[in-house]
Amino acid sequence: MDKKAHIKTFGCQMNEHDSFRMMEILRQEGYEFTDHPEEATLILLNTCSVRHNPENKVYSYLGAARTWKRAHPGLIIGVAGCVAQQEGERLLAREKTVDMVFGPDNYFRLPEMLAAVRRGERVCETKWLPRTRRIQNFIPEEWVERGHVEGVKAYVAITKGCNNLCTFCIVPHTRGREVSREPGNILREARSLVEGGAKEIWLLGQNVNSYRAGDGYRFPELLDAVSQIEGLLRIRFTSPHPKDWNNRLSDLMAERRNICKHLHLPFQAGSDRILKLMRRNHTLADYLEKIHYLRRVIPHVEVSTDLIVGFPTESETDFEQTLHALKTVRFSQVFPFKYSPRPGTPAAEMPDDVPREVKEERLARVIALQDRINEESQRALCGSVQEVLIDGAHPRDSALMNGRTDGYRAISVRGGALEVGELVRVRVTGHRGHWLEGTLLPEQAEETACAPQFTPSDAA
Ligand code: SF4
Repeated sequence: MDKKAHIKTFGCQMNEHDSFRMMEILRQEGYEFTDHPEEATLILLNTCSVRHNPENKVYSYLGAARTWKRAHPGLIIGVAGCVAQQEGERLLAREKTVDMVFGPDNYFRLPEMLAAVRRGERVCETKWLPRTRRIQNFIPEEWVERGHVEGVKAYVAITKGCNNLCTFCIVPHTRGREVSREPGNILREARSLVEGGAKEIWLLGQNVNSYRAGDGYRFPELLDAVSQIEGLLRIRFTSPHPKDWNNRLSDLMAERRNICKHLHLPFQAGSDRILKLMRRNHTLADYLEKIHYLRRVIPHVEVSTDLIVGFPTESETDFEQTLHALKTVRFSQVFPFKYSPRPGTPAAEMPDDVPREVKEERLARVIALQDRINEESQRALCGSVQEVLIDGAHPRDSALMNGRTDGYRAISVRGGALEVGELVRVRVTGHRGHWLEGTLLPEQAEETACAPQFTPSDAA
């Protein structure tokens, strides 16, 4: 029988990274990828439990998988990732169509798990790898130089787990305590990805800038070393934590051309009282001070964020401070979420006392405000020259190619025969929704990259 695997990924870039890795392992087992789950002989769901909604989507997807399994009884169904880690045997007992459940520390064991399923067993592997040392090379040696390049970009996991214990977050429970890979191990992977065609590398970690690999070797040292890899056009990283962000990192971003001028720095809430209840270990003033310094050294830098509305006890006054922060920083993108309690977290012990309709109304106000800010900032970029990495064809217009600006704005580019992977200069000519439009410029065109500005008086 043909071996065809379909992997459905929910959640963050770390899950995407793990899914790419799983597909590489499956290729070695003779599988080819299929986009069509109904023709697959193996379906893996790589799950996320960070919020209630993605977890629900997993169960509704499993409902559809039941129909496919009835049509093809030989179909193997596996559930991986955070929901698998959290639910383990409970999930296996509840979902009879599922053949294997495995947590994020176990995906390199896919060949043995598949062999067990073929022998008729149902498998549950949610044990952590021993995390006895702070520095651990959690990618097995034989896989270090076999990372996956998808289009122009590739992911490199530099840390795993998180020690922060934010009260709303399930991640420390599903991904475990934080470990960092050795720099040499990471650099070997990054170099092999660049040799394999990657133009842009994303350094990943649940709290990427708490990376540390021994005396004095921390995230700035690693970022500096990665930025010196020959042929690497762009570096991005996600997600940093505000408490671990410092001016040294801002200076390094300013200094190195290939470190993208975009920072995704989650602030979660504008009220210091709520930040304290969330155990974020910073205040809004700390956050604004760091952004202010970053914008001083890189005036055109773009900043995006995540935030939660309706955290337990959030009052209208607390929420207005979140709106104030949005107006002050003028983020390029905001990912807002309604709070939902995650079982097992400290926040789940607090009363979920903001009514659903108030959460919805606050979410709508955040979205409306951010849409206005986005419209204004897109308009302000018109006429500027941006460096764009071309990452694909436009789906409907063959005269256009799509790409991303240094600041991570999506843009369609007209003019010239452009190739995926080219870094080009583009004059922004217009905008539509979240997309910019632009025309290709000759290489020597003057650079006028700009983004909405932030001034200290705004932060008062
Ligand atoms: S920093 Fe906080 S929100 Fe981010 S993964 Fe760690 S505990 Fe969760």
